[in-house]
Amino acid sequence: ATPTSIMVGTGRGAELGVLFRKGEALQSLRDASVVALDKTGTLTEGRPTLTDLLTSPGYERKEVLAFVAAVEAHSEHPIARALVEAAEREGVERPATTGFGSVTGMGVYAVAGGRRVEVGADRYMRHLGLDVVEFALAAEQLGRDGKSPLYVAIDGRLAAIVAVADPIKAGTAAAIAALHRLGLKVAMVTGDNRRTANAIASQLGIDDVVAEVLPEGKVEAVKRLRAAYGAVAFVGDGINDAPALAEADVGLAIGTGTDVAMEAADVVLMSGSLHGVPNAIALSKATIGNIH
Ligand code: ADP
Ligand code: MG
Repeated sequence: ATPTSIMVGTGRGAELGVLFRKGEALQSLRDASVVALDKTGTLTEGRPTLTDLLTSPGYERKEVLAFVAAVEAHSEHPIARALVEAAEREGVERPATTGFGSVTGMGVYAVAGGRRVEVGADRYMRHLGLDVVEFALAAEQLGRDGKSPLYVAIDGRLAAIVAVADPIKAGTAAAIAALHRLGLKVAMVTGDNRRTANAIASQLGIDDVVAEVLPEGKVEAVKRLRAAYGAVAFVGDGINDAPALAEADVGLAIGTGTDVAMEAADVVLMSGSLHGVPNAIALSKATIGNIH
């Protein structure tokens, strides 16, 4: 590409709300074969809410919610906010906690009201040596509905399954359709449950899903997608997306996301909507494609 075509493309991008932080980004966008999207906060609003809570025999909803909220009040994860807000809405008082901690990609724990409480994914319960088969049917149904199931353990016993749902952003389906019309494959990369991720992907017509990835695993996911399809454009919003944004052939950050993601990206989409992704790619094809 000539310096002139890059200037023209970059200027046109600014009008479309697409900020090119590096001139080479136009070229690498044109060459991308697959667009990999983070799920939470990129495809979805990143604002989950509590939808379901099923208790094991001997436990009550409000009691479980109180313990859960007490632990989650110490976590910054979007799931945590959903659970704390639900408890507040239901007028549940949180017992005092000590010894809060988190296990990356799995869940959180603390002592709340003198009881040991753990909240997290099914793999966290397995890691704790707890069997979740009691909720297998519920988990399957929740996942199929695109909800994310979580489990609660109290004093080493399974006490409940909880689900949160994060609405898909307006415009996400249309942006994915536009990427397909541009001839690209579309993939989702997420730390969430496989069944939930697949349900959301099939709703949106996404071609490939890499689910249950640990935060460090997003870089591996980019490499895997590159081996399968070719050059990768990665789109994300979170601190945990920064390594994948840097690893990708071109990284695009959502402008409503974290500063860390924007600094790691080659392209910043000024609006929260995903329309900027097909717009940026169409622009790269128009400018770099025509002028050499
Ligand atoms: P993602 O946010 O993309 O799902 P994370 O690595 O942050 O990726 O989390 C992976 C999984 O670990 C979550 O989907 C959830 O099941 C569990 N988890 C993480 N943080 C919490 C939390 N504060 N409370 C309950 N579960 C959590
Ligand atoms: Mg995210």
